[in-house]
Amino acid sequence: QKAEWALLKDEATKTRDGKHVELAANIGSPQDVDNVLANGGEGVGLYRTEFLYMERSQLPTEDEQFEAYKSVLEKMKGKPVVVRTLDIGGDKQLPYLNLPSEMNPFLGFRAIRLCLEEQEMFRTQLRALLRASAFGNLKIMFPMIATIDEFRAAKALLEEEKATLLENGVEVADGIEIGIMVEIPSTAVLADQFAKEVDFFSIGTNDLIQYTMAADRMNERVSYLYQPYNPAILRLVKMVIDAAHKEGKWAGMCGEMAGDEIAIPILLGLGLNEFSMSASSILKARSLIKKLDQNEMKQLAEDALRLQTVNEVMELIHNKIM
Ligand code: PEP
Ligand code: MG
Repeated sequence: QKAEWALLKDEATKTRDGKHVELAANIGSPQDVDNVLANGGEGVGLYRTEFLYMERSQLPTEDEQFEAYKSVLEKMKGKPVVVRTLDIGGDKQLPYLNLPSEMNPFLGFRAIRLCLEEQEMFRTQLRALLRASAFGNLKIMFPMIATIDEFRAAKALLEEEKATLLENGVEVADGIEIGIMVEIPSTAVLADQFAKEVDFFSIGTNDLIQYTMAADRMNERVSYLYQPYNPAILRLVKMVIDAAHKEGKWAGMCGEMAGDEIAIPILLGLGLNEFSMSASSILKARSLIKKLDQNEMKQLAEDALRLQTVNEVMELIHNKIM
């Protein structure tokens, strides 16, 4: 099987009936890129930049960040690279920021909420990203967006930094796509409105499931509620993909669900354009997708959406696919 997958390394990802989807990888540092390419990744769908900020005693400088982003973009040689701005808080803390501890860190002061308040820190990252954009195919993504106002505020800061750089003669790529993670139910519900303003969506199912099911993703006692195939989750995912397509935008997924063999047929049927997963899952996913027919998966997804429980969905997939 491994040998069969290896043959797929340089192939585009196409279903049996010729529909192309992009298989990208999630990375945490520039060193991860070699493995993405070795596994036939067509892009980076999520670069988690918080690792640049962790395990050190102070914020990374603009130049340190610029070098890291530039190195990823250069190694990817024009393939798309979605960089997510700082998503600290929740399970990931930065001791040197001295933030007070919270009762519910996953519902607290984190990610874009923190960045919109710690503006100098955020602007530094945005400048590093904009400068790096000249070296490849950069797309910028904001995490934990709950309202349109947050998106607009983040985008306004990005535009401001871009204008200043351009005034100073710094090269910045034209038409950098700006998107958001859809990982909070309010944003999935208003996806039709967001789709008019963003360039793309990437569905963060790790958090979207936790917030939709009200089940802490770190808590074993409630892990039975962590249900990617729950029709409630599938319906939210469909709303987001449909909303994107209606406005001519693309929709990806960078939560664990994107690399899950039971979920992939459904996601394909729902029309997901980009699947971002750990590099080691890419060839297996490509091999699976090659065997599926997109039109059949459309029907399968419609059937799944009408079911009531996770077990019914799993049974459907097992009967039709496995
Ligand atoms: C997600 O929430 O699905 C996601 C990809 O982000 P993270 O796992 O970093 O929270
Ligand atoms: Mg998340």
